[in-house]
Amino acid sequence: MPKILVVGGGYAGFYTAWKLEKHLRQGEAEVVMVDPLPYMTYQPFLPEVAAGSIEPRHAVVSHRRHLKKTRVVTAKVTKVDHATKTATITPEIGEPWEESYDQIVMTAGAVSRTFPIAGVADEAIGLKTIEEAAAIRDKVLTNFAKASNLPAGPERDRLLTVVVVGGGFAGIEVFAELRSFVTDLLKSYPELSFDDTHFHLVEAMGRIMPEVSLETSHWVLKNLAQRGANVHLDTQLASAVGGVCQLKAKDESIQTVESDLIIWTAGVMANPMVKGTDFPLEPRGRITVQPDLRVVDEDTVIADAWACGDVAAVPDLTGGGVGGMCVPNAQHAVRQAKQLAKNLVATLRGEATVDYKHENLGAVAGLGIGIGVFQSGKFAMKGFLAWGAHRGYHGMAMPSWERKWRVIGDWVGGFFLGRDIASLDDRETPRAAFEAFASRPKPAATEEPAAVAAPAPEAGTPAGAAGPAYATPAEDVSKDAAPVDGEKATAK
Ligand SMILES: Cc1cc2nc3c(=O)[nH]c(=O)nc-3n(C[C@H](O)[C@H](O)[C@H](O)COP(=O)(O)OP(=O)(O)OC[C@H]3O[C@@H](n4cnc5c(N)ncnc54)[C@H](O)[C@@H]3O)c2cc1C
Repeated sequence: MPKILVVGGGYAGFYTAWKLEKHLRQGEAEVVMVDPLPYMTYQPFLPEVAAGSIEPRHAVVSHRRHLKKTRVVTAKVTKVDHATKTATITPEIGEPWEESYDQIVMTAGAVSRTFPIAGVADEAIGLKTIEEAAAIRDKVLTNFAKASNLPAGPERDRLLTVVVVGGGFAGIEVFAELRSFVTDLLKSYPELSFDDTHFHLVEAMGRIMPEVSLETSHWVLKNLAQRGANVHLDTQLASAVGGVCQLKAKDESIQTVESDLIIWTAGVMANPMVKGTDFPLEPRGRITVQPDLRVVDEDTVIADAWACGDVAAVPDLTGGGVGGMCVPNAQHAVRQAKQLAKNLVATLRGEATVDYKHENLGAVAGLGIGIGVFQSGKFAMKGFLAWGAHRGYHGMAMPSWERKWRVIGDWVGGFFLGRDIASLDDRETPRAAFEAFASRPKPAATEEPAAVAAPAPEAGTPAGAAGPAYATPAEDVSKDAAPVDGEKATAK
């Protein structure tokens, strides 16, 4: 039975495996999917997760629950040698192993692309994973709680300032969602006022959201300004050392903003793991494929190798796209994966493949509760209706009804009950509370020479019985709480 190895279980990998399960006949091929994460992340929901409108666990789709016929391997693919059809799989614990395959599908996606700006690597956080989105939510909440105890001043300002770098879709969505979240949060913090909160978005270009028309992007800018959120166009982040952001405008003027939360959304790049493969890469580091999604080296098709999603340069046959290639988005990744699965099965059966072609459906963005934009060609919708379209589209696009219901449940719950505003920031150090009171073994007594008499048993220990090997918490606490005499306490 031929083995199909799917590298990556995000949008493209998950859908490829899901559709292969559907199209393959019993015993026709074995599907193995490898991803270091046990779930697929529905990335368009990350801004709403960061803003507390969707529970983090509800925005991911468990591989094992939904891929019943696929062998799911939770590990990284660290090398692919297609010449010998072997992939090196490296688990988090244990030895790496070589997995042979007959067909390979590369879908390892993209990672945040940064520039060597001082401080960014140390201070900023990306928005590509569910963990990042959940951490942003908790950070906003924790910072609010801290700020509410402080008098007005730079320390409090820093905690109540959000800086987002990048005015693309992801950047604007998270910026606007957080603005909505923070405005909501003020109702629970009488110590703080709207004017105490500060929002800055930095965009190097002269406009935001290239996916929508200029007119629609202007509407978004105006809407954000009305909501007290500053967008700095033609401006670059020059430094973020220690959270001190230097925003350098085109005219070289510099504005300094200090922030405890710097979110980097200024672009993505193909997953650098592809450098550990022998597949052809184009200048932007993506695997080159032909329109039927088979890997191609100039004009030579690489047999039994496929790629799609953000990691692949897929020709856009509609004539759109950037440089003639499909733009990296979920709309393409899902549809490419579905076509790829069909083509792969067709190839196994000796049938012809079909080229991938998809007319852009448009773009829809949520900008906080009750506000959104939608653009398809020249048609645009703004405000409440567009927000409804955003939720309607993504609610339905979430894979499986099991997940759809959870997300819709969050929205309905949020509508009637409001957002949940408790920070679980302490989950970063989940053992701290336990460890603070946990008793530890007494330090081992240094071995006494045989001639020295054994120490007298402690008070309360039956004669001849060995003393306790470790202090009980009660013993520790009582000694700490009420030392009998000063000397004993000092000795301890
Ligand atoms: C905040 C945000 C909002 C977005 N909103 C939209 C939107 O509204 N509409 C839209 O169309 N698109 C949107 N996108 C883009 C969209 O999510 C991506 O284009 C899409 O996820 C690409 O799918 P993919 O499968 O190629 O990559 P991914 O979904 O990123 O999946 C890649 C997978 O590969 C795995 N992987 C990584 N390294 C390895 C390795 N070494 N071995 C094995 N597996 C590996 C990863 O763990 C991951 O699961 C958004 C993206 C972001 C970040």
